[in-house]
Amino acid sequence: MRGVTKLAPGRGHVELAERPEPSAPAGHVVLDVVGAGICGTDLHIHDGEYETVTPVTMGHEVSGVVAEVGEGIDESWLGARVVSETYFSTCARCAHCRAGRRNLCPERRSIGTHVDGAFAPRLLVPLSNLHRVPETLDGHAAALCEPLACVCHSVLEPDAVRPGDEVLVTGPGPVGLLAAQVARAAGGSVHVRGTARDERRLAAARTLGFETSTTADEAVEADVVIECSGDEAGIAFAIAAARRGGRYVQMGLAGKPVTVPFDLICFHELVLTSGFASTPSSWAAALELVERRAVDLEALVSEVVPLAEWQDAFAATRSGQGIKFVLDPQ
Ligand SMILES: [Zn+2]
Ligand SMILES: [Zn+2]
Repeated sequence: MRGVTKLAPGRGHVELAERPEPSAPAGHVVLDVVGAGICGTDLHIHDGEYETVTPVTMGHEVSGVVAEVGEGIDESWLGARVVSETYFSTCARCAHCRAGRRNLCPERRSIGTHVDGAFAPRLLVPLSNLHRVPETLDGHAAALCEPLACVCHSVLEPDAVRPGDEVLVTGPGPVGLLAAQVARAAGGSVHVRGTARDERRLAAARTLGFETSTTADEAVEADVVIECSGDEAGIAFAIAAARRGGRYVQMGLAGKPVTVPFDLICFHELVLTSGFASTPSSWAAALELVERRAVDLEALVSEVVPLAEWQDAFAATRSGQGIKFVLDPQ
């Protein structure tokens, strides 16, 4: 089979290459990949800015159908529509693993960076990573359960939003539009802010029922600010927008040191939290939101693209043209 593969470290070295066909050992399953979302991390991997063990098939936002089960696994899993957590293995012994924070395990090996990921027709994952998805959820949109779980981790662990809070989300990309929905589900009244360049994404935010504004509009203030742009000016704006005594959640990654008015964290007694990737409990929270239809994942899928057109989809993701591009390897 062929998969979008990071062949060597450094910038580029990504090709649709021949990859080994997986088969499932005990405790594992092979999925037929239905949808695999392209994420900002994939662009960083492409550019050689994110640690990978090469050669490796990329892709960590996956939905699929169970095609093969390893020894000892109940055959009722065959044909199940599922999404998968991203850790292929963690040590299970360190303090983080034992506290349910597998995302912080120093021995963490993830799909798409350390072991083969989802930009290929078939994917090997541990059974313990699987979550069934509701019949009503579109198979391509289901790939967005992974970024949703990341958002749930940052926004809900610990709870940043209380009922009645005014919430500002800066950066209306896929993460921002998921964060806005999670904050609304938590009882917040949510405003989404972007730049003039984000007009299409802000229009999507309005369709989802959010108030929006751009940097050309006047300043806003909020009890909770969830920063999803990772942009230096965006972070500076967001810190200043948090009300005195408020909460500030950093989700966007700048990818480099940036200059921001950090003293405001002290002057305004802001509580700053963040999050890296997802945890088993944030996956449970994400799936619960999907099941009760508190978040709309379908609305965030701009285009479903065959694997052969991965370069166009990466370029479109980079330019911020749409919201989320999903590869369909079948
Ligand atoms: Zn991602
Ligand atoms: Zn560990």
